[in-house]
Amino acid sequence: MNFVVVGGGPAGIQAASYAARLGAQVTVVEKDVLGGAANLWDCIPSKAMIATGGLLALLSRASRMGVSDVQLYPELDSIKARIASITEHLERSNRDLLGSQGVRVIQGEARFLDSHHIAVQSISGDEIELGGDAFLIATGSRPRVPDWAPIDGDRILTTRQAYPPPEIPKHLVVIGSGVTGVEFVHMFRTFGSKVSLIVSRQQILPQKDPEVAAALETDFLDSGVKLYKGARAKGISRDEDGNVVVACDDGRSIAGSHCLLAIGSLPNYESLELDKAGVMLDDSGYIPVDHHCVSNVKHIYAAGDISGKLPLASVATMQGRKVAEHIMGLDTREHHHLDYDKAASAIFTEPEIADVGLAEAEAFALGRKIRVTKVPFAANARALINGDSRGFIKIVSDPATGVVLGGSIVGERAAELISVIALAVTAHLKVADIVESLLVHPALAEALAEAAD
Ligand SMILES: Cc1cc2nc3c(=O)[nH]c(=O)nc-3n(C[C@H](O)[C@H](O)[C@H](O)COP(=O)(O)OP(=O)(O)OC[C@H]3O[C@@H](n4cnc5c(N)ncnc54)[C@H](O)[C@@H]3O)c2cc1C
Repeated sequence: MNFVVVGGGPAGIQAASYAARLGAQVTVVEKDVLGGAANLWDCIPSKAMIATGGLLALLSRASRMGVSDVQLYPELDSIKARIASITEHLERSNRDLLGSQGVRVIQGEARFLDSHHIAVQSISGDEIELGGDAFLIATGSRPRVPDWAPIDGDRILTTRQAYPPPEIPKHLVVIGSGVTGVEFVHMFRTFGSKVSLIVSRQQILPQKDPEVAAALETDFLDSGVKLYKGARAKGISRDEDGNVVVACDDGRSIAGSHCLLAIGSLPNYESLELDKAGVMLDDSGYIPVDHHCVSNVKHIYAAGDISGKLPLASVATMQGRKVAEHIMGLDTREHHHLDYDKAASAIFTEPEIADVGLAEAEAFALGRKIRVTKVPFAANARALINGDSRGFIKIVSDPATGVVLGGSIVGERAAELISVIALAVTAHLKVADIVESLLVHPALAEALAEAAD
């Protein structure tokens, strides 16, 4: 099996490495950095910035833990160097991993010549032609920038220009209140910026459980974040002092020193010349795939953001694994199929948010009978010891069988704690299985057992 992967992000790397382990001859074509946008622009740098901001936030609360006179001084050059060193380290690890498995990596931009051949414009300027029995398109996505947003990388920024920006904004206006938008609100408030958030609906995080969104909203408001609800940005300009003004469709104008756009992404398909391979796109430019990630051409797969499913690195990785299994003819029984409804996700704010499976509001909308149990961290010893007892754990289960259907966590370490509920949802465990686990004390995880009880 000669397998060619276009795009070295989480989907491409996982597919390449697993297919090689299963015995395929694999080539990865990546035009930029191994690890993809996830490593260079998205997951890793954003979480590294949030980690630095989190440290600043923690130190600002130091007096509550019995420590005084803590000096705070974010050093932008050091932060930038730290992010670069993490990215480089991860790229090297990916390169070593693929190298150790005999995967050939070509740096260059790929385009299809026909359904069994691609041409790669390498960085040295040569054009290489490659044939394959199976192809994976894993070219990811990029931030959406509408015509009305004159991005300049100085004061009007996309997320890719914020790690860190040339200066810490005095007053940042964030456009977009989905997961990415709220993470950047949180990131910059911890760096001391005044932050305003334009929320097109009446709730931030419109896709999330209202109770979860409300908890974050309260925290934002308490820390001085200004929310402009029911407003859609329609223009951004700069005044004579260089400051930005965002014009909204309801007539409001919001002024700030900087503006950051977080209004979704667009798929990277343009350079691929997919028509030559006969691969179809949907109206938004994503490649529709079946549950094996197969496109309309049976030996051409698409995984990761370009597949238009859940735009998460974790999902991209799992799709890559499924692609490798399928091309190598491994058993793909129903229970091995990827169930996107069971993907855990997190929002790296403070309090942190994570959820998985069926949400309470969703069950309510479906008219489905559920049992919901909720425990606040305020009663948890470890949370009190850590000095942060915000938030709660909520578990949704089937009242007849006790099987765990989903859960949401708001609070410290939510992204780690959700793993227990994710495992329960995937393995069809019951609330009793969580209750009867002998857990550590004192630990945040004890709240999981209490919520399950
Ligand atoms: C700010 C931000 C933060 C995020 N944080 C998280 C997070 O914490 N957790 C999480 O799970 N998800 C997060 N995501 C989402 C996550 O980054 C994406 O879902 C993930 O990167 C998708 O992986 P992928 O493999 O599809 O593609 P990508 O990571 O986008 O990689 C695609 C690769 O393909 C290459 N490529 C494109 N075209 C060609 C071509 N023609 N030839 C050769 N190479 C090509 C690109 O250079 C790129 O390296 C975040 C997204 C954003 C915007």
